[in-house]
Amino acid sequence: MKPATRAIHVAQSPDPATGAVAPPLYLTSTFRLPTVDSTVAGYDYTRSGHPGRDTLQEVVASLDDAAHAFAFSSGLAAEDTLLRAVLRPGDTVVFHRDTYGGTFRLLTRVYPEWGVNTVAVDLADTAAAAAQLARLRPRLVWAESPTNPLLEILDVAALAEATHAAGGALVVDNTFATPVLQQPLALGADAVVYSTTKYMGGHSDVVGGAVVVNDPALAERLAFLTNAVGNAAAPFDSRLTLRGIKTLVTRVRAQSASALWLAEQLSAHPAVTEVIYPGLDTHPGHALAQAQLHGGFGAMITLRLRDAAAARALAEGTELFTLAVSLGAVESLIEYPYTMTHAATQGTAQQVADNLVRLSIGLEDPADLLEDLTRALG
Ligand SMILES: *Cc1c(COP(=O)(O)O)cnc(C)c1O
Repeated sequence: MKPATRAIHVAQSPDPATGAVAPPLYLTSTFRLPTVDSTVAGYDYTRSGHPGRDTLQEVVASLDDAAHAFAFSSGLAAEDTLLRAVLRPGDTVVFHRDTYGGTFRLLTRVYPEWGVNTVAVDLADTAAAAAQLARLRPRLVWAESPTNPLLEILDVAALAEATHAAGGALVVDNTFATPVLQQPLALGADAVVYSTTKYMGGHSDVVGGAVVVNDPALAERLAFLTNAVGNAAAPFDSRLTLRGIKTLVTRVRAQSASALWLAEQLSAHPAVTEVIYPGLDTHPGHALAQAQLHGGFGAMITLRLRDAAAARALAEGTELFTLAVSLGAVESLIEYPYTMTHAATQGTAQQVADNLVRLSIGLEDPADLLEDLTRALG
């Protein structure tokens, strides 16, 4: 089956007991046991597992053509569980200098307290990065592509090769591209993480995360930790995320097409200094994006304005675009990374520029979105 079909049918069929087409929502904390050492269907307590989470995990794994997926209460809970599963005191983690602010905070403010060294490296320059990895010998390399907020394209296959040569494992945060456009495991990555809050959920109504892996030993460790730590996705959250995923393929393709059109239109606007979008041939990673992404270049656009005042005025001046953190939903959002998503990088070498505005293109008619932006740009 193709991805759009899998999103709707994998692990999902009418309920045999009632014929309900939408599967039952099991709002229960605990499950009756037939005997002291058996279960009815493999479930005993919802922290340890429940049917809605299992269905969600099967669908997410299927979309990445992977053996295992784990669903968590947030993207950061997913990241934290993966880091705990792999790292030991004394290990080094290398991350790209342009990384999601929450990941940056987790890596630089939490893990060093547990004896983990975290080092920012320019992973966009693959040859230089390979030399650094060979020297640092990291246990993990953490990459996003496209990156946030600069939408750089990292060469996942080349990074996987360099990481493995240095004796480490490559993690790709695939939140922006989604499995619809990019499949990091097929490119050689060892684990994929998602904030399912974004495109997978897609409707700004649920927070969640996922880790996707093929390695059975890592999968066992993730399953153990999820139960031990207690950060699994809850029944209602799993259900909302699963509903979002049913339309993921269609949404991502449509939103990417709108984003490409808007990026082209905005490139001609005199008040925009630079339109950063991997689908434009002016983007330095355009050729790599064409090879690595399939069916679109994503629905995120970053604009560079004349200065901070112009960026703030745009972020606060739109009507259809809502000023809010997050991304990937049906409604278009606008944000100012310097004080919002990337505030944690202020004062560090990873600080983002103060003249950037990030757009998440939703499912509205792109002509209306352009009119809104044009009006706000003045
Ligand atoms: C939002 C986001 C996260 C964190 O996910 P939460 O669900 O907010 O915990 C991680 N990575 C990227 C790229 C994100 O956009």
